[in-house]
Amino acid sequence: MTPPPRPAIVIAATPTPNGDLHVGHMAGPYLAGDVYSRYLRATGRPVVYTTCTDDSQTYVVATAHRQGITPEELVSRSTAQIERSLAAMGTLMAGLPPIDDRYRGTVLDYVAELHAAGRFKLRTVRLPYARNAGVFLFDGLVSGTCPVCMAGSCGGACETCGHPNNFDELLDPKYTVDPTDVVVYREQTILVLAMEDYRERLTAYYASRTPRWRPHAKQLIGELLARPLPEIPVTFPGTWGIAAPFPETPGQVLYPWIEAMPASIYATWWANAQQGKETAATDEAWLAAGDAELVYFHGFDNVYHWGLVDLVMLLAHGERYTTPDANVCNEFYDLDGEKFSTSRNHLIWSADLLAEVPRDLVRFFLALTAPEYQRTNFSRDAMHGVTTRRLVEPWNALSEALTLGLVALDTAAPLPTTEVGRRRAAAMLERFRLCYELPNFSLGRAAETVLTQLDRLRRSADSLDLSANGSAPVRPGDLLLEIRTLLSCVAPIMVEVTDALVAEGVDLRITGDQPHEIAPFRFPRLPNTADTPERTPALDGAR
Ligand SMILES: [Zn+2]
Repeated sequence: MTPPPRPAIVIAATPTPNGDLHVGHMAGPYLAGDVYSRYLRATGRPVVYTTCTDDSQTYVVATAHRQGITPEELVSRSTAQIERSLAAMGTLMAGLPPIDDRYRGTVLDYVAELHAAGRFKLRTVRLPYARNAGVFLFDGLVSGTCPVCMAGSCGGACETCGHPNNFDELLDPKYTVDPTDVVVYREQTILVLAMEDYRERLTAYYASRTPRWRPHAKQLIGELLARPLPEIPVTFPGTWGIAAPFPETPGQVLYPWIEAMPASIYATWWANAQQGKETAATDEAWLAAGDAELVYFHGFDNVYHWGLVDLVMLLAHGERYTTPDANVCNEFYDLDGEKFSTSRNHLIWSADLLAEVPRDLVRFFLALTAPEYQRTNFSRDAMHGVTTRRLVEPWNALSEALTLGLVALDTAAPLPTTEVGRRRAAAMLERFRLCYELPNFSLGRAAETVLTQLDRLRRSADSLDLSANGSAPVRPGDLLLEIRTLLSCVAPIMVEVTDALVAEGVDLRITGDQPHEIAPFRFPRLPNTADTPERTPALDGAR
Protein backbone atom coordinates (compact mmCIF):
# COMPACT_ATOMS: atom_id res chain seq x y z
CA MET A 1 0.00 0.00 0.00
CA THR A 2 1.32 3.46 -0.83
CA PRO A 3 1.52 5.78 2.18
CA PRO A 4 -0.95 8.70 2.20
CA PRO A 5 0.47 11.85 0.61
CA ARG A 6 2.23 14.23 3.01
CA PRO A 7 0.02 17.15 4.05
CA ALA A 8 1.31 20.66 3.46
CA ILE A 9 0.75 23.90 5.34
CA VAL A 10 1.62 26.98 3.30
CA ILE A 11 1.68 30.30 5.13
CA ALA A 12 2.02 33.69 3.44
CA ALA A 13 3.42 36.58 5.48
CA THR A 14 0.74 37.94 7.80
CA PRO A 15 -0.53 41.20 6.26
CA THR A 16 -0.74 44.25 8.51
CA PRO A 17 -4.25 45.71 8.32
CA ASN A 18 -3.13 49.31 7.88
CA GLY A 19 -4.07 49.44 4.20
CA ASP A 20 -4.93 47.26 1.22
CA LEU A 21 -2.49 45.00 -0.68
CA HIS A 22 -0.75 46.63 -3.61
CA VAL A 23 0.74 44.92 -6.65
CA GLY A 24 4.16 44.74 -4.92
CA HIS A 25 2.66 42.70 -2.08
CA MET A 26 0.90 40.39 -4.52
CA ALA A 27 4.00 39.80 -6.65
CA GLY A 28 5.82 38.86 -3.44
CA PRO A 29 4.51 36.24 -1.05
CA TYR A 30 0.80 36.03 -1.90
CA LEU A 31 0.97 34.88 -5.53
CA ALA A 32 4.02 32.66 -4.91
CA GLY A 33 2.38 30.86 -1.98
CA ASP A 34 -0.77 30.40 -4.03
CA VAL A 35 1.05 28.93 -7.03
CA TYR A 36 3.04 26.57 -4.81
CA SER A 37 -0.15 25.45 -3.03
CA ARG A 38 -2.01 24.93 -6.31
CA TYR A 39 0.85 22.84 -7.68
CA LEU A 40 0.89 20.60 -4.60
CA ARG A 41 -2.89 20.21 -4.79
CA ALA A 42 -2.67 19.24 -8.48
CA THR A 43 -0.23 16.47 -7.56
CA GLY A 44 -2.72 15.07 -5.04
CA ARG A 45 -1.24 16.49 -1.83
CA PRO A 46 -3.62 17.79 0.87
CA VAL A 47 -2.72 21.45 1.27
CA VAL A 48 -3.92 24.38 3.31
CA TYR A 49 -2.86 27.86 2.21
CA THR A 50 -3.54 30.63 4.67
CA THR A 51 -2.46 33.77 6.46
CA CYS A 52 -3.80 35.98 9.23
CA THR A 53 -3.91 39.76 9.69
CA ASP A 54 -1.51 40.93 12.40
CA ASP A 55 -3.81 43.44 14.03
CA SER A 56 -1.57 44.07 17.04
CA GLN A 57 1.22 45.73 15.03
CA THR A 58 1.93 49.33 16.00
CA TYR A 59 1.94 50.24 12.29
CA VAL A 60 -1.84 50.12 12.64
CA VAL A 61 -1.73 52.75 15.38
CA ALA A 62 0.64 55.00 13.44
CA THR A 63 -1.37 54.85 10.20
CA ALA A 64 -4.69 55.39 12.02
CA HIS A 65 -3.22 58.51 13.66
CA ARG A 66 -2.15 59.86 10.28
CA GLN A 67 -5.59 59.17 8.78
CA GLY A 68 -7.45 60.62 11.76
CA ILE A 69 -9.44 57.46 12.46
CA THR A 70 -9.34 54.91 15.26
CA PRO A 71 -7.08 51.86 14.94
CA GLU A 72 -10.20 49.68 15.19
CA GLU A 73 -11.76 51.44 12.20
CA LEU A 74 -8.55 51.08 10.21
CA VAL A 75 -8.27 47.35 11.02
CA SER A 76 -11.86 46.69 10.05
CA ARG A 77 -11.63 48.58 6.76
CA SER A 78 -8.21 47.21 5.79
CA THR A 79 -9.11 43.61 6.62
CA ALA A 80 -12.12 43.82 4.29
CA GLN A 81 -9.93 45.35 1.55
CA ILE A 82 -7.18 42.73 1.92
CA GLU A 83 -9.73 39.93 1.87
CA ARG A 84 -11.29 41.31 -1.32
CA SER A 85 -7.89 41.68 -2.97
CA LEU A 86 -6.84 38.10 -2.18
CA ALA A 87 -10.15 36.87 -3.60
CA ALA A 88 -9.84 39.09 -6.71
CA MET A 89 -6.39 37.60 -7.29
CA GLY A 90 -8.03 34.17 -7.22
CA THR A 91 -5.97 32.76 -4.36
CA LEU A 92 -6.92 29.46 -2.75
CA MET A 93 -7.29 31.20 0.61
CA ALA A 94 -10.73 30.74 2.11
CA GLY A 95 -10.64 34.33 3.36
CA LEU A 96 -9.02 35.86 6.41
CA PRO A 97 -9.63 34.24 9.79
CA PRO A 98 -11.49 36.44 12.27
CA ILE A 99 -9.41 37.91 15.09
CA ASP A 100 -11.75 36.68 17.79
CA ASP A 101 -11.73 34.98 21.20
CA ARG A 102 -10.39 31.75 19.73
CA TYR A 103 -7.52 33.70 18.15
CA ARG A 104 -6.68 35.44 21.42
CA GLY A 105 -7.09 32.17 23.33
CA THR A 106 -4.62 30.44 20.99
CA VAL A 107 -2.07 33.21 21.47
CA LEU A 108 -2.48 33.35 25.24
CA ASP A 109 -2.28 29.56 25.69
CA TYR A 110 0.84 29.48 23.52
CA VAL A 111 2.72 32.08 25.57
CA ALA A 112 1.33 30.90 28.92
CA GLU A 113 2.87 27.46 28.33
CA LEU A 114 6.25 28.99 27.58
CA HIS A 115 5.97 31.24 30.62
CA ALA A 116 5.06 28.31 32.86
CA ALA A 117 8.04 26.36 31.48
CA GLY A 118 10.34 29.22 32.51
CA ARG A 119 11.35 30.15 28.96
CA PHE A 120 11.02 33.92 29.47
CA LYS A 121 13.46 36.11 31.41
CA LEU A 122 12.96 39.50 33.01
CA ARG A 123 15.22 42.20 31.59
CA THR A 124 15.50 45.91 32.27
CA VAL A 125 15.99 47.65 28.93
CA ARG A 126 16.34 51.23 27.74
CA LEU A 127 13.55 52.28 25.39
CA PRO A 128 12.96 55.39 23.31
CA TYR A 129 10.04 57.39 24.66
CA ALA A 130 8.10 60.27 23.08
CA ARG A 131 8.07 62.73 25.97
CA ASN A 132 5.09 64.90 25.04
CA ALA A 133 2.88 62.06 23.86
CA GLY A 134 3.98 59.81 26.74
CA VAL A 135 4.45 56.79 24.47
CA PHE A 136 7.17 54.12 24.42
CA LEU A 137 8.43 53.67 20.86
CA PHE A 138 8.91 50.42 18.98
CA ASP A 139 8.28 49.01 15.51
CA GLY A 140 5.86 51.25 13.57
CA LEU A 141 5.92 54.00 16.18
CA VAL A 142 9.60 54.80 15.65
CA SER A 143 11.80 55.60 12.66
CA GLY A 144 15.48 56.40 12.58
CA THR A 145 18.77 55.11 11.24
CA CYS A 146 19.67 51.42 11.07
CA PRO A 147 22.72 50.80 13.29
CA VAL A 148 24.01 48.13 10.88
CA CYS A 149 23.60 49.59 7.36
CA MET A 150 22.84 53.25 8.18
CA ALA A 151 19.74 53.27 5.94
CA GLY A 152 16.52 54.80 7.20
CA SER A 153 14.59 52.20 9.16
CA CYS A 154 11.58 51.65 11.36
CA GLY A 155 11.92 49.90 14.70
CA GLY A 156 12.15 46.12 14.92
CA ALA A 157 14.05 45.19 11.76
CA CYS A 158 15.60 47.12 8.90
CA GLU A 159 13.97 46.45 5.54
CA THR A 160 17.21 47.27 3.70
CA CYS A 161 19.77 44.99 5.40
CA GLY A 162 17.31 42.80 7.33
CA HIS A 163 19.08 43.17 10.69
CA PRO A 164 17.04 43.60 13.85
CA ASN A 165 17.20 46.69 16.00
CA ASN A 166 15.73 46.22 19.44
CA PHE A 167 15.14 48.54 22.36
CA ASP A 168 17.55 51.53 22.15
CA GLU A 169 19.57 50.32 19.13
CA LEU A 170 17.91 52.40 16.39
CA LEU A 171 19.89 55.62 15.86
CA ASP A 172 18.25 59.09 15.72
CA PRO A 173 14.82 57.81 16.80
CA LYS A 174 11.75 59.88 15.89
CA TYR A 175 8.13 59.31 16.87
CA THR A 176 6.42 58.51 13.55
CA VAL A 177 3.09 59.97 14.63
CA ASP A 178 4.70 63.30 15.60
CA PRO A 179 8.32 63.69 14.46
CA THR A 180 8.56 67.00 16.39
CA ASP A 181 8.06 65.25 19.73
CA VAL A 182 11.15 65.04 21.93
CA VAL A 183 12.48 61.49 22.18
CA VAL A 184 14.21 60.52 25.42
CA TYR A 185 15.14 57.12 26.86
CA ARG A 186 13.48 55.41 29.81
CA GLU A 187 14.19 52.11 31.48
CA GLN A 188 11.47 49.47 31.62
CA THR A 189 11.43 45.89 32.87
CA ILE A 190 10.00 43.51 30.29
CA LEU A 191 10.03 39.79 29.52
CA VAL A 192 12.29 38.47 26.77
CA LEU A 193 13.07 35.17 25.10
CA ALA A 194 16.82 34.70 24.84
CA MET A 195 17.60 33.49 21.34
CA GLU A 196 21.16 32.63 22.33
CA ASP A 197 19.77 29.73 24.43
CA TYR A 198 18.70 28.08 21.17
CA ARG A 199 21.95 28.54 19.23
CA GLU A 200 22.75 24.85 19.05
CA ARG A 201 19.34 23.87 17.72
CA LEU A 202 19.27 26.85 15.36
CA THR A 203 22.66 25.92 13.96
CA ALA A 204 21.57 22.33 13.40
CA TYR A 205 18.33 23.48 11.80
CA TYR A 206 20.05 25.86 9.36
CA ALA A 207 22.70 23.28 8.53
CA SER A 208 19.96 21.01 7.22
CA ARG A 209 17.76 23.71 5.63
CA THR A 210 20.25 26.23 4.25
CA PRO A 211 20.27 24.70 0.74
CA ARG A 212 16.60 25.70 0.58
CA TRP A 213 17.19 29.39 1.26
CA ARG A 214 17.69 31.89 -1.53
CA PRO A 215 21.16 33.49 -1.52
CA HIS A 216 20.31 36.89 -0.02
CA ALA A 217 18.33 35.41 2.88
CA LYS A 218 21.06 32.79 3.39
CA GLN A 219 23.61 35.60 3.64
CA LEU A 220 21.54 37.39 6.31
CA ILE A 221 21.05 34.23 8.37
CA GLY A 222 24.83 33.72 8.24
CA GLU A 223 25.44 37.33 9.37
CA LEU A 224 22.99 36.96 12.25
CA LEU A 225 24.45 33.66 13.44
CA ALA A 226 27.95 35.13 13.34
CA ARG A 227 27.15 37.63 16.11
CA PRO A 228 25.54 37.35 19.54
CA LEU A 229 21.88 36.49 18.98
CA PRO A 230 19.42 39.12 20.21
CA GLU A 231 16.85 38.75 22.93
CA ILE A 232 13.31 38.74 21.57
CA PRO A 233 10.96 41.06 23.45
CA VAL A 234 7.92 39.16 24.69
CA THR A 235 6.16 42.09 26.35
CA PHE A 236 6.28 45.84 25.78
CA PRO A 237 4.85 48.87 27.55
CA GLY A 238 1.98 49.81 25.26
CA THR A 239 -1.78 49.95 25.00
CA TRP A 240 -2.53 48.46 21.55
CA GLY A 241 -2.55 44.66 21.21
CA ILE A 242 -3.19 41.76 23.55
CA ALA A 243 -2.67 42.46 27.26
CA ALA A 244 0.27 40.40 28.58
CA PRO A 245 -1.09 37.92 31.14
CA PHE A 246 2.06 37.78 33.28
CA PRO A 247 2.27 39.04 36.89
CA GLU A 248 5.83 40.40 36.33
CA THR A 249 4.78 42.85 33.63
CA PRO A 250 1.55 44.57 34.69
CA GLY A 251 0.08 47.01 32.18
CA GLN A 252 2.18 45.70 29.27
CA VAL A 253 1.06 44.10 26.00
CA LEU A 254 2.46 41.12 24.13
CA TYR A 255 5.08 42.16 21.59
CA PRO A 256 3.20 41.89 18.25
CA TRP A 257 5.72 39.59 16.54
CA ILE A 258 5.29 37.08 19.39
CA GLU A 259 1.81 36.41 18.00
CA ALA A 260 2.94 35.25 14.55
CA MET A 261 3.31 31.53 15.30
CA PRO A 262 0.10 31.04 17.33
CA ALA A 263 -1.59 33.26 14.71
CA SER A 264 -0.40 30.94 11.92
CA ILE A 265 -1.47 27.89 13.91
CA TYR A 266 -4.90 29.43 14.44
CA ALA A 267 -5.16 30.45 10.77
CA THR A 268 -4.35 26.87 9.72
CA TRP A 269 -7.08 25.53 12.02
CA TRP A 270 -9.56 28.11 10.68
CA ALA A 271 -8.72 27.46 7.02
CA ASN A 272 -8.99 23.70 7.52
CA ALA A 273 -12.38 24.22 9.18
CA GLN A 274 -13.54 26.16 6.09
CA GLN A 275 -12.69 23.05 4.04
CA GLY A 276 -14.75 20.87 6.42
CA LYS A 277 -11.60 19.57 8.15
CA GLU A 278 -12.06 21.10 11.58
CA THR A 279 -9.94 19.58 14.35
CA ALA A 280 -10.78 19.70 18.06
CA ALA A 281 -7.35 21.00 19.08
CA THR A 282 -6.39 24.26 17.34
CA ASP A 283 -2.74 23.22 16.95
CA GLU A 284 -3.29 19.66 15.72
CA ALA A 285 -2.07 20.27 12.15
CA TRP A 286 1.17 21.78 13.47
CA LEU A 287 2.15 18.94 15.80
CA ALA A 288 5.50 17.38 14.86
CA ALA A 289 3.83 13.95 14.94
CA GLY A 290 1.66 14.94 11.94
CA ASP A 291 4.80 15.54 9.82
CA ALA A 292 3.19 18.28 7.75
CA GLU A 293 5.41 20.07 5.26
CA LEU A 294 5.46 23.67 6.53
CA VAL A 295 6.50 26.37 4.05
CA TYR A 296 6.52 30.13 4.60
CA PHE A 297 6.43 32.74 1.84
CA HIS A 298 7.61 36.21 2.88
CA GLY A 299 9.76 39.16 1.90
CA PHE A 300 13.47 39.62 2.63
CA ASP A 301 12.57 42.31 5.16
CA ASN A 302 10.92 39.57 7.24
CA VAL A 303 13.76 37.04 7.19
CA TYR A 304 14.71 37.93 10.76
CA HIS A 305 11.14 37.51 12.01
CA TRP A 306 9.96 34.49 10.02
CA GLY A 307 13.38 32.88 9.81
CA LEU A 308 14.64 33.37 13.37
CA VAL A 309 12.16 34.81 15.86
CA ASP A 310 9.30 32.55 14.82
CA LEU A 311 11.55 29.52 14.62
CA VAL A 312 12.76 30.12 18.17
CA MET A 313 9.13 30.54 19.24
CA LEU A 314 8.48 27.03 17.87
CA LEU A 315 11.69 25.54 19.30
CA ALA A 316 10.84 26.99 22.72
CA HIS A 317 8.02 24.44 22.83
CA GLY A 318 10.57 21.61 22.68
CA GLU A 319 9.75 18.92 20.14
CA ARG A 320 6.01 19.66 20.09
CA TYR A 321 5.75 21.48 16.76
CA THR A 322 6.90 20.92 13.23
CA THR A 323 9.49 23.39 11.91
CA PRO A 324 9.44 24.97 8.47
CA ASP A 325 10.77 22.90 5.57
CA ALA A 326 11.54 26.13 3.78
CA ASN A 327 11.21 29.90 3.87
CA VAL A 328 10.74 31.20 0.33
CA CYS A 329 11.82 34.85 0.45
CA ASN A 330 11.21 37.50 -2.18
CA GLU A 331 12.92 40.83 -2.74
CA PHE A 332 11.18 44.16 -3.39
CA TYR A 333 9.07 44.73 -6.49
CA ASP A 334 9.48 48.23 -7.94
CA LEU A 335 6.95 50.30 -9.84
CA ASP A 336 8.39 52.20 -12.79
CA GLY A 337 11.87 51.90 -11.31
CA GLU A 338 11.02 53.02 -7.77
CA LYS A 339 9.89 51.21 -4.67
CA PHE A 340 6.15 50.88 -4.11
CA SER A 341 5.24 53.44 -1.46
CA THR A 342 1.88 53.94 0.19
CA SER A 343 2.95 57.16 1.91
CA ARG A 344 4.11 58.71 -1.38
CA ASN A 345 1.12 57.19 -3.21
CA HIS A 346 3.53 55.58 -5.68
CA LEU A 347 1.63 52.35 -6.10
CA ILE A 348 -1.04 50.39 -7.92
CA TRP A 349 -3.61 48.64 -5.77
CA SER A 350 -4.11 45.01 -6.78
CA ALA A 351 -7.86 45.46 -6.81
CA ASP A 352 -7.61 48.34 -9.30
CA LEU A 353 -5.31 46.43 -11.64
CA LEU A 354 -7.50 43.32 -11.47
CA ALA A 355 -10.59 45.38 -12.25
CA GLU A 356 -8.99 46.38 -15.55
CA VAL A 357 -6.81 43.50 -16.68
CA PRO A 358 -7.93 39.85 -16.84
CA ARG A 359 -6.84 37.99 -13.71
CA ASP A 360 -4.86 35.33 -15.59
CA LEU A 361 -2.77 37.93 -17.38
CA VAL A 362 -2.04 39.77 -14.13
CA ARG A 363 -1.07 36.52 -12.41
CA PHE A 364 1.07 35.47 -15.35
CA PHE A 365 2.95 38.76 -15.65
CA LEU A 366 3.56 39.02 -11.90
CA ALA A 367 4.87 35.44 -11.97
CA LEU A 368 7.11 36.17 -14.96
CA THR A 369 8.61 39.26 -13.30
CA ALA A 370 8.44 38.10 -9.65
CA PRO A 371 11.25 39.57 -7.51
CA GLU A 372 12.70 36.22 -6.48
CA TYR A 373 16.44 36.83 -6.37
CA GLN A 374 16.70 40.59 -6.80
CA ARG A 375 14.50 43.64 -7.17
CA THR A 376 12.42 43.56 -10.34
CA ASN A 377 10.19 46.13 -11.94
CA PHE A 378 6.52 46.44 -12.85
CA SER A 379 5.20 48.76 -15.51
CA ARG A 380 1.82 48.83 -17.23
CA ASP A 381 3.44 49.14 -20.65
CA ALA A 382 5.69 46.12 -20.09
CA MET A 383 2.74 44.08 -18.83
CA HIS A 384 0.66 44.96 -21.85
CA GLY A 385 3.46 44.36 -24.37
CA VAL A 386 4.83 41.15 -22.90
CA THR A 387 1.52 39.43 -22.23
CA THR A 388 0.15 40.36 -25.67
CA ARG A 389 3.18 39.39 -27.71
CA ARG A 390 4.56 36.42 -25.82
CA LEU A 391 1.47 34.89 -24.22
CA VAL A 392 -1.89 35.85 -25.73
CA GLU A 393 -0.90 35.86 -29.41
CA PRO A 394 0.85 32.45 -29.50
CA TRP A 395 -1.76 31.01 -27.13
CA ASN A 396 -4.65 32.06 -29.36
CA ALA A 397 -2.79 30.95 -32.49
CA LEU A 398 -2.37 27.50 -30.94
CA SER A 399 -6.01 27.49 -29.91
CA GLU A 400 -7.03 28.29 -33.48
CA ALA A 401 -4.77 25.65 -35.02
CA LEU A 402 -6.02 22.98 -32.65
CA THR A 403 -9.66 23.96 -33.12
CA LEU A 404 -9.34 23.84 -36.91
CA GLY A 405 -7.51 20.53 -36.70
CA LEU A 406 -10.19 18.96 -34.51
CA VAL A 407 -12.95 20.28 -36.76
CA ALA A 408 -11.19 18.71 -39.75
CA LEU A 409 -10.82 15.41 -37.91
CA ASP A 410 -14.53 15.55 -37.03
CA THR A 411 -14.38 13.04 -34.18
CA ALA A 412 -15.21 13.04 -30.48
CA ALA A 413 -13.58 9.63 -30.05
CA PRO A 414 -10.30 9.41 -28.08
CA LEU A 415 -7.22 9.81 -30.23
CA PRO A 416 -4.20 7.51 -29.89
CA THR A 417 -0.92 8.86 -28.57
CA THR A 418 2.50 7.56 -29.60
CA GLU A 419 5.66 6.84 -27.66
CA VAL A 420 7.19 10.06 -29.05
CA GLY A 421 4.28 12.21 -27.80
CA ARG A 422 4.23 10.55 -24.39
CA ARG A 423 7.98 11.07 -24.01
CA ARG A 424 7.69 14.74 -24.92
CA ALA A 425 4.81 15.26 -22.47
CA ALA A 426 6.84 13.60 -19.70
CA ALA A 427 9.88 15.73 -20.50
CA MET A 428 7.79 18.90 -20.38
CA LEU A 429 6.29 17.87 -17.06
CA GLU A 430 9.77 17.34 -15.64
CA ARG A 431 10.82 20.88 -16.64
CA PHE A 432 7.82 22.28 -14.77
CA ARG A 433 8.33 20.01 -11.78
CA LEU A 434 11.79 21.51 -11.33
CA CYS A 435 10.27 25.00 -11.31
CA TYR A 436 7.43 24.25 -8.92
CA GLU A 437 9.08 22.03 -6.32
CA LEU A 438 11.47 22.91 -3.53
CA PRO A 439 14.28 23.66 -3.16
CA ASN A 440 14.29 25.50 -6.49
CA PHE A 441 10.73 26.79 -6.58
CA SER A 442 10.66 29.68 -9.06
CA LEU A 443 7.60 31.48 -10.34
CA GLY A 444 9.68 33.28 -12.94
CA ARG A 445 11.16 30.10 -14.41
CA ALA A 446 7.74 28.41 -14.40
CA ALA A 447 6.27 31.34 -16.35
CA GLU A 448 9.25 31.33 -18.76
CA THR A 449 8.77 27.60 -19.28
CA VAL A 450 5.12 28.24 -20.17
CA LEU A 451 6.28 30.66 -22.89
CA THR A 452 8.96 28.29 -24.21
CA GLN A 453 6.59 25.33 -24.44
CA LEU A 454 3.75 27.41 -25.82
CA ASP A 455 5.93 28.66 -28.63
CA ARG A 456 7.14 25.13 -29.38
CA LEU A 457 3.61 23.70 -29.47
CA ARG A 458 2.33 26.55 -31.63
CA ARG A 459 4.98 25.68 -34.20
CA SER A 460 4.22 21.98 -33.80
CA ALA A 461 0.57 22.64 -34.58
CA ASP A 462 1.61 23.95 -38.01
CA SER A 463 2.83 20.44 -38.85
CA LEU A 464 -0.30 18.71 -37.58
CA ASP A 465 -1.05 15.58 -39.59
CA LEU A 466 -4.78 15.17 -40.14
CA SER A 467 -4.70 12.11 -42.36
CA ALA A 468 -5.37 8.70 -40.90
CA ASN A 469 -1.96 7.25 -41.77
CA GLY A 470 0.01 10.33 -42.64
CA SER A 471 3.72 10.76 -42.31
CA ALA A 472 3.88 14.36 -41.04
CA PRO A 473 5.72 14.70 -37.71
CA VAL A 474 2.88 15.65 -35.38
CA ARG A 475 -0.04 13.33 -34.67
CA PRO A 476 -3.21 14.92 -33.28
CA GLY A 477 -3.32 12.64 -30.21
CA ASP A 478 0.26 13.58 -29.33
CA LEU A 479 -0.41 17.28 -29.76
CA LEU A 480 -3.49 17.02 -27.55
CA LEU A 481 -1.55 15.19 -24.87
CA GLU A 482 1.22 17.78 -24.92
CA ILE A 483 -1.28 20.65 -24.84
CA ARG A 484 -3.10 19.09 -21.90
CA THR A 485 0.21 18.65 -20.09
CA LEU A 486 1.03 22.30 -20.72
CA LEU A 487 -2.40 23.35 -19.43
CA SER A 488 -2.02 21.31 -16.25
CA CYS A 489 1.35 23.00 -15.65
CA VAL A 490 -0.05 26.44 -16.49
CA ALA A 491 -2.95 25.91 -14.07
CA PRO A 492 -1.14 26.90 -10.84
CA ILE A 493 -0.50 30.33 -12.41
CA MET A 494 -3.44 30.92 -14.78
CA VAL A 495 -6.48 29.89 -12.81
CA GLU A 496 -9.45 31.24 -14.73
CA VAL A 497 -8.89 29.62 -18.10
CA THR A 498 -7.90 26.29 -16.54
CA ASP A 499 -10.68 26.21 -13.92
CA ALA A 500 -13.14 26.59 -16.82
CA LEU A 501 -11.60 23.55 -18.51
CA VAL A 502 -11.72 21.48 -15.32
CA ALA A 503 -15.40 22.43 -14.99
CA GLU A 504 -15.87 20.98 -18.50
CA GLY A 505 -14.35 17.70 -17.34
CA VAL A 506 -10.78 18.08 -18.63
CA ASP A 507 -8.43 16.30 -16.23
CA LEU A 508 -5.63 18.72 -15.32
CA ARG A 509 -4.23 16.80 -12.36
CA ILE A 510 -0.48 16.36 -12.43
CA THR A 511 0.01 12.62 -12.10
CA GLY A 512 2.90 11.73 -14.37
CA ASP A 513 0.74 9.11 -16.12
CA GLN A 514 0.99 9.37 -19.90
CA PRO A 515 -2.16 7.83 -21.42
CA HIS A 516 -2.21 5.85 -24.68
CA GLU A 517 -5.27 7.73 -25.87
CA ILE A 518 -6.81 11.11 -25.13
CA ALA A 519 -10.29 12.54 -25.69
CA PRO A 520 -10.46 15.75 -27.73
CA PHE A 521 -11.12 18.88 -25.69
CA ARG A 522 -11.61 22.56 -26.33
CA PHE A 523 -8.53 24.79 -25.97
CA PRO A 524 -10.01 28.15 -24.96
CA ARG A 525 -8.71 31.48 -26.19
CA LEU A 526 -7.31 34.07 -23.81
CA PRO A 527 -8.97 37.47 -23.55
CA ASN A 528 -7.31 40.01 -25.77
CA THR A 529 -5.51 42.70 -23.80
CA ALA A 530 -5.66 45.04 -26.78
CA ASP A 531 -9.24 45.66 -25.69
CA THR A 532 -8.03 46.64 -22.23
CA PRO A 533 -8.28 50.39 -21.71
CA GLU A 534 -4.95 52.11 -21.45
CA ARG A 535 -4.04 54.16 -18.41
CA THR A 536 -6.92 55.42 -16.37
CA PRO A 537 -6.91 57.94 -13.52
CA ALA A 538 -7.59 55.12 -11.04
CA LEU A 539 -4.22 53.58 -11.83
CA ASP A 540 -2.22 56.79 -11.98
CA GLY A 541 -3.48 58.52 -8.92
CA ALA A 542 -5.02 58.10 -5.53
CA ARG A 543 -7.81 55.74 -4.89
ZN1 LIG B 1 19.91 48.14 7.93
